[in-house]
Amino acid sequence: MDSFDKFDSDIKFPPLIEQYEKKIYDLHQLIEISKGLNSTLDYNILIDSILLTCMGQLQLLNAGIFLVKVLGGDKFTLHRNYKGFDLDHSMEYSFPINSPLIKFIENDYRCYTSDEIINDIKDEASDIMNILKPDILVPLMSKGEINGIIILGDRINDEEFSESEVEYILNIASLAGIAINNARLYEMATTDMMTKLKIHHYFQTILVEEINRSIKYDRPLSLIMADIDHFKKFNDSYGHVAGDEVLKNVAAVFKESIRLIDIGARYGGEEFAVILPKTDINEAIIVAERIRSAVESSTLRFNEEVLHVTISVGVAQFDQSIDLTKQSLIERADRALYVSKEEGRNRVSFL
Ligand code: GH3
Ligand code: MG
Ligand code: MG
Repeated sequence: MDSFDKFDSDIKFPPLIEQYEKKIYDLHQLIEISKGLNSTLDYNILIDSILLTCMGQLQLLNAGIFLVKVLGGDKFTLHRNYKGFDLDHSMEYSFPINSPLIKFIENDYRCYTSDEIINDIKDEASDIMNILKPDILVPLMSKGEINGIIILGDRINDEEFSESEVEYILNIASLAGIAINNARLYEMATTDMMTKLKIHHYFQTILVEEINRSIKYDRPLSLIMADIDHFKKFNDSYGHVAGDEVLKNVAAVFKESIRLIDIGARYGGEEFAVILPKTDINEAIIVAERIRSAVESSTLRFNEEVLHVTISVGVAQFDQSIDLTKQSLIERADRALYVSKEEGRNRVSFL
């Protein structure tokens, strides 16, 4: 017993071992976090996973993330999945990507407190931070550039962040920055730059996945196909540039008229497709009619002209007994579309 007592009182190893144990635990956590962040390329799931990880690891009540919202966009916007902050949902909290705050952070990459930002920088970005008042701002980096800012606040235990916690959160941020960059690259590779809808190949891939899911979980799946009416004539009358603008406008109507889980694609030149998971034919017809009527009532001013087009639409629901391949479902929706064309255009038909 004597020798044990002596061991306990004289030797200072246990605290060091504890420190290493903590370090190993933290690294383990980081590996798990890395696996989690790299397991999805879905933007919304990724954002939630980054925010919930930060909140869980640091025991926080509030977390949000500023990201560039649209491909090629020039401002950082607070992503709608923020947690805890009591904000006006109708407001958009954004600031330019080249704002002094971003330049400042790029020159000295580290975590910042709200006070540091608000006191040292006077710009749109710091004004927003003054409204949100997070405890700390954690910049995300990828390829030497800031590609987002995480804002964190309200610690459950009210303690200050320790140096090791700040280091830990920066490690999470560097993983998050890479994951966001990967998700962004994936989005770019699968999105049609002109219409911002999904490209044909992506549509075909997801359609197979959704058909399999529909069979596996025994739930409905529908497909909408649409084509702009007399678009050749439109181009001949107003020119291709005006045609392109109309095409973008129609695509925007599609995006606004469908749910987040629906997949809107540019099927071809002026042809569109929407995959509607968990949707039967009756619900799909309602969506199709909503899109058709929104396109019909939408006008676009371009070079003193008021431009306007209509679309013809076809709808079909996946039927396991008929559709042995995805092509069969596409062909049925396409046939319905041609019924709409034959019957006078600017209408919805279904099979
Ligand atoms: P319909 O009502 O039968 O569909 O008549 P349509 O003239 O629209 O016939 P169709 O669908 O076969 O014609 C497609 C036209 O769409 C031909 C092409 O010039 C035009 N188009 C396809 N892609 C684009 C594009 O990216 N920009 C522009 N401006 N026009 C396009
Ligand atoms: Mg066409
Ligand atoms: Mg057409």
